[in-house]
This record gives sequence, structure tokens and C-alpha cells, in this order.
Amino acid sequence: MLRIRMKTWTGRCPRHPRYRPVDGLGAIKGGCRYCWKLLKIHQAYETLLDEIVSFDDAIWEASENPAMRLYRPAPPRGRATA
Ligand SMILES: [Zn+2]
Repeated sequence: MLRIRMKTWTGRCPRHPRYRPVDGLGAIKGGCRYCWKLLKIHQAYETLLDEIVSFDDAIWEASENPAMRLYRPAPPRGRATA
């Protein structure tokens, strides 16, 4: 079993407090190392979420196999329950 606890965390560049990592690499001014770190954290977070969704999808698909009926996870996001 893997259990991940998530907490709300806010990071802000001391030089560019309006920088938003969702704006990407092109929005970083002057190669700022703090903005760069925020971007890396954002990308790592997005990758983590993608991997979790991918895992949930794989489990969901496997659970449709009668051999896997003992384990019925919650449906992945955006998918209606049947
Ligand atoms: Zn910055």
C-alpha cells in the first residue's frame, strides 16, 4: 500500500511574486532561480497527479475483469458510475 498525505503549500518568488508556474518557462524573467524552482515543483506535482490518475485508470479497467471483482475502486475523475 502507498499512502500519500497532501497538504496545501504555497510558494512565491520573492522577486517576482506575480509569477505563476502555469504560465511556463517563458514567463520566467531573467532566468530567476526561484521562479525556476517553482516551475520544477509545479511540473513534479503535475507528474504526480498524472501518475495517480493513470494508476486509478489501470485499476478501474482491471476491476472490470471478473477476476478482479474483489477490489472495486472509486471511479476515476470525470467518469460516471454505472
Ligand atoms: Zn522570480
